[in-house]
Amino acid sequence: MSAYRGRLAPTPTGPLHAGHAATFRLAHDRARAAGGHLVLRIEDIDPQRCRPEFAAACLEDLRWLGLTWDDGPVFQSERRAGFLALWELLRDGGWIYPSPHSRRDLERAPLAPHEDEPLFPPEWRQPPAPAAEWPSPAGTNWRFRVPDGEAITFTDERCGRVERVAGRDFGDFVVWRRDDVPAYELAVVADDVAMGITEIVRGEDLLTSTARQLLLYRALGATPPAFYHAPLVRDAAGRRLAKRDAARSLRALREAGVRPDEI
Ligand code: GLU
Repeated sequence: MSAYRGRLAPTPTGPLHAGHAATFRLAHDRARAAGGHLVLRIEDIDPQRCRPEFAAACLEDLRWLGLTWDDGPVFQSERRAGFLALWELLRDGGWIYPSPHSRRDLERAPLAPHEDEPLFPPEWRQPPAPAAEWPSPAGTNWRFRVPDGEAITFTDERCGRVERVAGRDFGDFVVWRRDDVPAYELAVVADDVAMGITEIVRGEDLLTSTARQLLLYRALGATPPAFYHAPLVRDAAGRRLAKRDAARSLRALREAGVRPDEI
């Protein structure tokens, strides 16, 4: 086996659709073409939105598509210790701060609309928190302080040079939630580092997230993997497929007699 280590990382918040199938197929084929190792990681950290029945359905859909993996399924809901360890490192390094402002406050604030979510206003920033006062993250949101004005760049295997400017394209982002759930950005970096992932294949809707995650790699002193951002699948009207479009789920297509190779 080569040194290539990839992952399939579904979030079990709903049924998989053709967009997921396309990204997972690419991730699978790139790992296989490299003679590499592929892990299946179920990103079920959010107990409000994830359901065991969606996770089970994901596994079934991936198998039906003919994808194989060498490790897993590994469930992020069972990996809290690693996420907490990363939160502690970020707290001790002064990279993050407790933030009383919620996503809802942000949505209510009169800010310019934004691609992803409204830009977090720098005047809402707080100082970093001493470990003695915050032995654990529960009870508040924690945000990463971004270096305003710095261009975060990387070379994507498909999209080429990508640039996102901190403080303009994205602001201070949540790494741990008030309800004591690690945020996606933190969990994904913790696991990609812990699992020694060498290339991340994900949808191009996550390009800005990748820029955020590069800041976490830097804070950790870890080397980031390579990135391949896959094209998004759109419907006839040009809209991105979403989990709520149950009619377009892989399951519904299968029940309608569509074969995996036709997907
Ligand atoms: N779990 C994420 C999703 O389903 C993908 C995360 C990633 O590739 O980092 O959108």
